[in-house]
Amino acid sequence: MKYNFLGKSGLKVSALSYGAWVTFHSQADEEMAYKLMTKAFDEGVNFFDNAEAYADGMAEVIMGKVLKRTQWNRSEYIVSTKIFWGGKGVNQRGLSYKHIIEGTNAALKRLQLEYVDLIYCHRPDIHTPIEETVWAMNQVIKQGKAFYWGTSEWSAEQIRKAYDFAKQEHLIPPLMEQPQYNLFERNKVEKEFAQLYTDIGLGTTIWSPLASGLLTGKYTNGIPKGSRLDLPELEWLKNRLQAQNWEEKIHKVIDLHEVASSIGATLPQLAIAWCLKNPNVSTVITGASKPEQITENMKALNFVDRLDQSIIQKIEKIMNNKPSDVPDWREM
Ligand code: NDP
Repeated sequence: MKYNFLGKSGLKVSALSYGAWVTFHSQADEEMAYKLMTKAFDEGVNFFDNAEAYADGMAEVIMGKVLKRTQWNRSEYIVSTKIFWGGKGVNQRGLSYKHIIEGTNAALKRLQLEYVDLIYCHRPDIHTPIEETVWAMNQVIKQGKAFYWGTSEWSAEQIRKAYDFAKQEHLIPPLMEQPQYNLFERNKVEKEFAQLYTDIGLGTTIWSPLASGLLTGKYTNGIPKGSRLDLPELEWLKNRLQAQNWEEKIHKVIDLHEVASSIGATLPQLAIAWCLKNPNVSTVITGASKPEQITENMKALNFVDRLDQSIIQKIEKIMNNKPSDVPDWREM
């Protein structure tokens, strides 16, 4: 395993990490979650991602039980949660001071932890002033309930606003952002945030490196039984993905398969290695419903150096979605 500093912090996070999203509770009960997390940990993963919204809190309950059972030393792993959707009540969602404090307390109880290492604002909240959210996140850290805070799917402008306010008030600024990043979704990480890596030392903990499995090639001939998109409770996800140029993406996946084979990698390994190749990615949060998938995915690290210029060019030709560079007008 390789370990990267999370943004400009002194915290080291494994280049590959593991998240609970729709897997825990829907696909993995406590027993399976134990197998998945211990497999990942044995491979060197030190970061486990969660959110109050996942399975309405049940993903945290399961992760908490697994952590108790493993008896790992608390200093050996990093746990995150994300606050935004804590329930249906008017004050159980969003980024108000009240929900951030109450949501964090409830998450810690479910996780059976004294603190999470990382806490995220799961989405931007257009109804709450960013200043209120920055104060609340600082309060959480001051109370020792989290060590670092960050955002997920915020715009560069929102992140910068939070950062500037925190700096002005001598508060702790957001450290990391959790955006989707994979061969199909590139704009935020490669273009929108480009200035933030150097300007504020932003780290990224990227999600869905396999686009929920689409980039494994498993959906090329329909939806296999037992896969994520076959689950009745995840029909919303299937509908959402299938509404986004599904057929075109399947064709690209078929072409990517040949590139993967040419370097002796599987398709998931190629897709994950491609994310790892980006120096602004601090950690790639992988998902897996079976321990064998973890074994396969962790080997992606071995292929990062195999993605040389000629392979990258082949990938770019297939994907045809490279965000345009910020123009350097001096060169015009
Ligand atoms: P992926 O895009 O990697 O999808 C994971 C799924 O792909 C697995 O559950 C499995 O599905 C399938 N898969 C994985 N590896 C293989 C393999 N080797 N062979 C075949 N199938 C494979 O990641 P996720 O979408 O799960 O996202 C990762 C994590 O990111 C989440 O758990 C969560 O922690 C975080 N996240 C954060 C979000 C945010 O808003 N901040 C949003 C979404 C995720 P199956 O076996 O069931 O078919």
